[in-house]
Amino acid sequence: MADKPLITARDLSKIYRRGSEEVRAVDGVSFEAAAGEMVAIIGPSGSGKTTLLNMIGCLDNPTSGSLEVGGRQVFGGRKELSERELTLIRRELFGYVFQKFYLIPTLTVEENILLPGAFYRSPSAKEARDVMKLLGIERRYDHLPGELSGGEMQRVAVARALINNPKVVLADEPTGSLDSRRTEEIKGILRDLTRQGITVVMVTHNLDLARSADRLLEIRDGRIHKA
Ligand code: ADP
Ligand code: MG
Repeated sequence: MADKPLITARDLSKIYRRGSEEVRAVDGVSFEAAAGEMVAIIGPSGSGKTTLLNMIGCLDNPTSGSLEVGGRQVFGGRKELSERELTLIRRELFGYVFQKFYLIPTLTVEENILLPGAFYRSPSAKEARDVMKLLGIERRYDHLPGELSGGEMQRVAVARALINNPKVVLADEPTGSLDSRRTEEIKGILRDLTRQGITVVMVTHNLDLARSADRLLEIRDGRIHKA
């Protein structure tokens, strides 16, 4: 029997209202992703990629549609989840990587990595060291973000996304601020995560990175574009 998909999105839509105008940022998107699969979302600017990624990551709620992640009905169930339940789901299931890294400049590499765990399950220094090793930044543990290269900052951001052992890593243009060599490195790192069974969903403008994914969602005007 085939495993149940880790992510099942059905007819996800997000409508923003600007005065009397309606913006269908995401318009009926459905897809599935298995554990350990890499999904790339591509499409022109304003096509709804970030809105879709944020809904998958429970950072934004859909106007309609349903989402199941890791066997949990997140959206579209019989009962709407409370903000507290959503917060717990974010911490238990997801790690987030942003293009601009969002590292705290006054905290060391190690402290930045431990930060998402601090409000949740207080990971140990050893756990931080393990993810730093995984990403090859363990010698930078006591450096401040300002002392790092862009590639190193992105590795710290990925390490931070892993500290709570997520089932899904979400990345919005993870290589958008990196040169081609660093992009190749991050590509390899994301692929390694899938080998550990982590599902990676990323938005990217890098076609080479997108083509390396197991599943490619091309979005236009909020809808999946069929080639
Ligand atoms: P992308 O990431 O593909 O560039 P977005 O998901 O950011 O696209 O945006 C999709 C559409 O939704 C755009 O037309 C954008 O202007 C609109 N949009 C996004 N966020 C908001 C918001 N908070 N309020 C109103 N409109 C929004
Ligand atoms: Mg975007």
